[in-house]
Order: sequence, then C-alpha cells, then structure tokens
Amino acid sequence: MALFSKKLGIDLGTANTLVFVPGKGVVLNEPSVVAVSVGDRKILAVGNEAKKMLGKTPDSIIAYRPMKDGVIADYRVTEAMLRYFIQKALGRWNIWKPEVMVSVPASVTSTERRAVIEAAIKAGAKNAYVVKEPILAAIGAGIPIHEPVGHMIVDIGGGTTDVAVISLGGIVACTSVKCAGNRMDAGIADYLKKNFNLSIGDKMAEEIKIQIGSAIPLEEELVMTVKGRDFVTGLPRTADLKTNEVVKAISRELREMVKAIKDVLQETPPELSSDIIDRGIIMTGGSSLLRNFPELVYRRTGVKSVLAKDALFCVARGTGIALEHLDSYKKSIVAKR
Ligand code: ADP
Ligand code: MG
Repeated sequence: MALFSKKLGIDLGTANTLVFVPGKGVVLNEPSVVAVSVGDRKILAVGNEAKKMLGKTPDSIIAYRPMKDGVIADYRVTEAMLRYFIQKALGRWNIWKPEVMVSVPASVTSTERRAVIEAAIKAGAKNAYVVKEPILAAIGAGIPIHEPVGHMIVDIGGGTTDVAVISLGGIVACTSVKCAGNRMDAGIADYLKKNFNLSIGDKMAEEIKIQIGSAIPLEEELVMTVKGRDFVTGLPRTADLKTNEVVKAISRELREMVKAIKDVLQETPPELSSDIIDRGIIMTGGSSLLRNFPELVYRRTGVKSVLAKDALFCVARGTGIALEHLDSYKKSIVAKR
C-alpha cells in the first residue's frame, strides 16, 4: 500500500499556489485566483484560467483571490481551489487518495486551521496536515529548525510580509504585515499617476518592479518604457521610468516591511539575538527577489541578510520535506486529520 501512497505539499500563497511532490519537486505553480459567477456563485475557473479574467471580467463574473492578505476569506472557494490543485497534480486517472500538507499563515485561528483540514479532506485528501508557513519556509530554506538555536526567517510574498524567529521547532516571536509585493505594485501605480499623469494596470506595475525595481538607489539606473493611459486625455501613452524613481515610489512600503523585521528583532530574547547575528536573516518569498532587498535589510538592521536558495519555492519544498519526515516534524503540525 505504501507503494501507492501519494504525497502532496501545497503552498497556499496569497499570490501563487504551489504543489510539491517529494522526489519530483514543484509540479504545479498557478495564481491563487478563483473566478466566481455573481448570480449563482458557481466556480467558473481556478488558477491560470481565472487569473486571465482578473480585471477583464464582465459584471456577471468576479475573479478574486481567496487568500487575500494571508487570510482564508471564503471556505467554499478555498475547497474548490484545493480540489483543483490536488486533481491537477495527481492526474485525472488517479484513484489513490493523497496525503496532503497545507501551509497556513502563522496567525490563523484554530477554526481556520480546521477549515483548511476539512477543505483538504473534502477536496480528496486521505490525510491532511497543516503547518505554519514560517516553519515550512525555514525547513525549505534548509534551516535545521530543531536546534536550540535562533533563526530568523522573513517571507515576503504577494499579500503579506511574515517575519519569524524559530528555535527548537517552534515560533518564538513573529509578526505579519499586510504589506508586500502587491502593495509595492500599488505604490508604483500611484507614483506614475501623481508624477506622470499616467494610469497603468496591475500587470504593468508588477513588470516595472521586477524589471527595473530596486530596494536601494542604483548608480547605474535601469530604464523602462512604461505603457498606460493618460489621465487627462484618456489616450494611450508611454513614459520612460528609471530605477531610482521606482525606489522612491516603493519607499513607504519598504519602510513598513523593514519595520516588521525590526519589531521582531526587538522582541527576540537576547540569547537568540546573538544566534541571529551569527547566522544572519534568511529571506524567502517572491518579493525577496527585489534587487538589493537583502542589502537594504542589512543596512537598516545591521544584521547580515541572505536570500535563500530558490526563494520562491521554500514553503513548497518545506511542505514536501515535512510530509516525508512526518515523525520528526510532528511537533510543528498544528492541525491534522
Ligand atoms: P505568495 O506566497 O504570497 O503567494 P510569492 O512568494 O509567490 O507570494 O511571491 C509573489 C510576489 O513576488 C509577487 O508580488 C511578485 O510580484 C513578486 N516577485 C516575483 N519575482 C520578483 C522579482 N524578481 N522581483 C521582485 N518581486 C518579485
Ligand atoms: Mg508564500
């Protein structure tokens, strides 16, 4: 029987949902978006298909993110999303029910954790386990979480920045702020509106951030031609934007994210602080890939900071590793069935 037991780890992110299969790696990576029809509340599409509808849907369809701001907003939609991802990862002809591990934000209530378990079981899981995201990010980043040593893990995704100090397999101090990739995109759109009279879409804002953005000003700036719509004439127009303008556009957001890190450092017991000084701050999540982000964190906190290997996949990989070694990580499982 063990031969057929399938294992799936699911990183239910605010921007992207990843499915990890031990031995195979990330088998699926799609936006955490679900399209719902307004009248009968029918689920129309999930993932890539649903994302295409974002911002382009007729009034009768809403495409939205069930994991907005790191909170599970809608149980039924979460279940539909889990079902879609589980079925797609296993293939249509599969008859074996998988063991599933799902990541949840560190701040979820016990009711929410149980709801995720129920959703996973209803979506076809044989057994379901829930572990907090920072723990999984740490496992996936290769941090030996069971040591009696303090490690700081910072996961900056789409909706939230999560900061945690981990020691002996548990979270010693943590915070979560609703400021991450999406808010930086909004900051960029706002800047273009105020300074260039240019209205741009979410996708354009994200492209600017990724292509020319940086957490600290550059001496040799990158330039990008931005396409949007003129606020006054309403007509399509372009403008050239440089890196240091983007730095300015996202400065408030950068400050807020760095403040979250400082807050947790300040409430960390001194013995663990010294471990963190020695080992550095480990950064994971897509938004940690912003140019020079670790350097900014170092400059503002005085603690060396490094980008984890495959920063986008740490939580997903963590779910896979924890599933394969359930016994050694059982202390970190906050709900199961
Ligand atoms: P979540 O776990 O919340 O689903 P992810 O860890 O998948 O989020 O990260 C998604 C965020 O990372 C998005 O806001 C995206 O714009 C951002 N991102 C991805 N690649 C980069 C990059 N190279 N530079 C800056 N931001 C990036
Ligand atoms: Mg994430």
